[in-house]
Amino acid sequence: MSGKEKTENDEKGVLQKVVAGEIAFRNIDKVVEDVDSAIAIRRNALEEITGTRFENIQHYTLDAEAATKRNIENMIGAVQIPLGIAGPLKINGEFAQGDFYLPLATTEGALVASANRGCSAISSSGGTNVRIFQDVMTRAPVFKLADVVQVKVFIDWINMPEIFAQMKEKAEETTRFGKLLAVEPYVTGNTVYLRFVFDTKDAMGMNMVTIATEAVTHFIQDEFGAIPVSLSGNMCIDKKPAAINTILGRGKTVIADTIIPAKIVSEKLKCNPKTMADVNYRKNLLGSARAGALGFNAHAANIVAALFLACGQDAAHVVEGSTAITTIEVTSNGDLYCSVTLPALPVGTVGGGTGLGTQKDCLNLLGVHGPGEPSGSNSKKFAEIVAAGVLAGEISLIAAQAAGHLARAHAELGR
Ligand code: NAP
Repeated sequence: MSGKEKTENDEKGVLQKVVAGEIAFRNIDKVVEDVDSAIAIRRNALEEITGTRFENIQHYTLDAEAATKRNIENMIGAVQIPLGIAGPLKINGEFAQGDFYLPLATTEGALVASANRGCSAISSSGGTNVRIFQDVMTRAPVFKLADVVQVKVFIDWINMPEIFAQMKEKAEETTRFGKLLAVEPYVTGNTVYLRFVFDTKDAMGMNMVTIATEAVTHFIQDEFGAIPVSLSGNMCIDKKPAAINTILGRGKTVIADTIIPAKIVSEKLKCNPKTMADVNYRKNLLGSARAGALGFNAHAANIVAALFLACGQDAAHVVEGSTAITTIEVTSNGDLYCSVTLPALPVGTVGGGTGLGTQKDCLNLLGVHGPGEPSGSNSKKFAEIVAAGVLAGEISLIAAQAAGHLARAHAELGR
């Protein structure tokens, strides 16, 4: 029997055992060395168990070995999302400067066309100014103390400058890049949340800050005797819509604005500044307030999600990344002022899904893949691009609604 035949026989044996429930899906990699073979066995076993025939998910180009090490467990294949391009978008940021083509991964017809129209209106008006006002990632372990007296003693201890210095040292022993900036206590009865605030440079940073915060909790346990109930107490707060992130910021706090001359509003957006300002006021501001929304925008999540999927970001961070506020005003000379404020945009250009081949291509298109020089500059540049893209999306959709074109565009492009 040739080596190849033997391997095939071995793989058939493993497949039978997986179908029979003798080898768990998660253990296939332990008995089959080749990663792609392990994936095929898992997929084929699933077909047999469920009576499904896969026709598409087995076709992928990504490096399965790398993906199974850091991005996915129990891998059976890959799904594809169509990728479109909007732009060029002229951005006048501190980090992103020039014309950018935005890679947008979506299945929503009309989205790319709409974003493209917004990019065109902005670029013809001289571009969008973008600035980052804060850049932090947080993790907040929760502690239970005996009573409020102990709570006060604990917080006074935490707030001592020499204790902060020691916590900072412990945290920064775990990472070459992360910097502990602050530890902010919050109290409910006898429960204390310590919101650890880090600069994570080019990493989105959730793994980094979780590891660093855990090291500090060991120090707190050794020196004060307080044991965390959980390393995350949800005052962080990750992947849940929450006022604390929109008020204090988490990830990048970034704002993009632009002034579009009335002539361009008329020619490219087929409406006028006054009507757009009124739609924004009644829809994005009053409507969102009445609905109790945390985001006061038209569809920031659309652009954030499409860019996040294309560029290897954690898709669940669309939750906080899209809590944007859109403002539109008519300027004193009748032009259109428009801004988007994204208080909590978690993005990274290293780590997470940023190393996957297709995602890397998209980050490269924007010139932001990998570590920046200086550290942190690539993720800041990417954040500015995302905010600029959200502005383009907001302008185009508000204009479509102001002109009464929303349903028509979706009927023509999305059905
Ligand atoms: P990561 O890949 O775990 O860490 C980033 C890595 O990049 C670190 O090893 C860091 O070095 C290194 N690095 C190299 N150059 C860098 C630079 N210029 N700036 C910053 N770091 C640089 O990624 P992460 O951003 O910390 O975490 C993202 C992952 O966390 C995603 O996969 C996400 O889905 C996941 N996630 C985790 C949690 C959680 O609770 N753990 C929650 C939500 C999401 P050092 O090792 O020296 O720091």
